[in-house]
Amino acid sequence: MGVIVKSGLKHHLSTWGVRLLDQLLPPRCLSCGAGVQDSGRICPDCWKELDFLQGPMCRCCGHPFGFDMADSLCASCQKSLPPFDRARAALRYDDGSRRMIISFKHGDRADYSDFFVQLLVQASQNLASSSAFVVPVPLHKKRLRQRRYNQAALIARKFAAGKGFDYVADMLIRHRYTPPQEGNYGQRQRNVAGAFAFSEKYREKIQDHRIIVIDDVYTTGATASACARILKKAGAGSVEILTLARVCSVT
Ligand SMILES: [Zn+2]
Ligand SMILES: [Zn+2]
Repeated sequence: MGVIVKSGLKHHLSTWGVRLLDQLLPPRCLSCGAGVQDSGRICPDCWKELDFLQGPMCRCCGHPFGFDMADSLCASCQKSLPPFDRARAALRYDDGSRRMIISFKHGDRADYSDFFVQLLVQASQNLASSSAFVVPVPLHKKRLRQRRYNQAALIARKFAAGKGFDYVADMLIRHRYTPPQEGNYGQRQRNVAGAFAFSEKYREKIQDHRIIVIDDVYTTGATASACARILKKAGAGSVEILTLARVCSVT
């Protein structure tokens, strides 16, 4: 009941009011809402449900392997190499991570972004530390109005600041509204085709540079590929994709 009242009330408050309210209310698990010691954390039960992707994986798309295959590509990348250079995710997208990410996405939980930034740092640990432009996957204006903030932009900005990278909010533009993503890779690819554009003012700046694109979930790779294709075409030297979680088929 408390949680329902809290989120209902939040819709009528300014960002400042929401922050104040969060400070006044007892800290809650950002996944299940149970009481926790510190704000911005998840409870031990929800933590146990998270599956961190730290084992062997496809060197390109980051799909986990069930056994060690040093420097190998998964079947999908062998068949057709994606336009991005690498994709890495902190967590397997399953019931445990889904609940937490949805709560962050739709539940006015912007105050919990630090935890998600830590997940991005975790996902990036084996990537090079050379300078990079950090770019969020943009939301369409209509979706942004519904959600009030772009969670990818929120964590991308903090991730860039922590790493000493340059954050560029508007390098990618979403100029077409696409319905919530459903379906297989082919359907999703058609969904996102033409939805993104490159912001021309950055063309000179990004020539041969490294770009890190941030999103919340890597599902089929259609969004990641669409963004990478645009950035490479505009002259980027390399494109890496960092997400909180990734959908994994059987490993
Ligand atoms: Zn919990
Ligand atoms: Zn792969």
